[in-house]
Amino acid sequence: MTKSRTWAIVIAMIIIRATVLGMCMGVRRAGDTARRAAVEGGRLGRRVFTYGPLIHNPQAVAELERAGLTVLDTAAFDRGDLDEEAAGSIVVIRAHGAPPEVFEHLRRLGATVVDATCPRVLRSQAKARELLERGYAVAIAGDRSHGEVAGILGHAPGAVVVENAAEAERLAVEWAGRRVALIAQTTIKKSEYDAIAEKLRRGCPEFLAVETLCPATAERQASLAELAARVDALVVVGGKNSANTQRLFMAAAESGKPAWHIETAEELPPEIYAYERIGLTAGASTPDSMVDDVERALLENAGAKGEKA
Ligand code: SF4
Repeated sequence: MTKSRTWAIVIAMIIIRATVLGMCMGVRRAGDTARRAAVEGGRLGRRVFTYGPLIHNPQAVAELERAGLTVLDTAAFDRGDLDEEAAGSIVVIRAHGAPPEVFEHLRRLGATVVDATCPRVLRSQAKARELLERGYAVAIAGDRSHGEVAGILGHAPGAVVVENAAEAERLAVEWAGRRVALIAQTTIKKSEYDAIAEKLRRGCPEFLAVETLCPATAERQASLAELAARVDALVVVGGKNSANTQRLFMAAAESGKPAWHIETAEELPPEIYAYERIGLTAGASTPDSMVDDVERALLENAGAKGEKA
């Protein structure tokens, strides 16, 4: 990070927001659904859970907890260790979706299931199931530990997860001569999906690539690239545990401009006040209020430092 400029030379800071930033449609919809469920649970005197953290953002999860939502530990629930707590409650399924066994388990316990699965993820689940029924061997390009992939697998038993091109190459040998279809975790990087598809296409003559990638990530990335060209430094707001925010930050760092990944306004580094034009972006799970807080803090602090100078 360059230290050649000092805070004192910044008289006015200009903040430019990326054209596309922050919460995607699916996460926003799941948050709204969960908040409504919390109100309903309060009215009926029933506990309200989310099946796993609704959002990969600790501050947003804390805010949902204050609204009355408790995160259900998915591994413990799947083992049957939380049956007593979940019985008779209201459980919100997050945007990633969940396997059908989870819905059945909850219904057996007399819980009310509120399904906030993103419509795009629902489409992937249905597509994987349909392809299996049509006799295809189905591969899912994605991260096998990700909740969305576990959900799709549950809806398409027999499908195989492929994480990278090397795995795809091995699978192509195993599946040579079969009709093979590939779908994708909605948030996988396009270049990773293309590399996997290429290996399967080469090894399996009857190959069908189904594009189930969500444009939300690519749109935020493209908007960041545009923004980077217009500013002196970049701030990426979002959970440190959010994969898409991490990828956004990686792209910001690779743009050549000084860049920071922060979760809250309190994490703004002092060095940032050396720059005049600050670009602001946020991952697909970052609430609007957190972006607003960061923008406000930047302007207030820059004003205070400008006065001191
Ligand atoms: S990233 Fe896309 S698929 Fe995933 S929740 Fe958001 S809108 Fe839905």
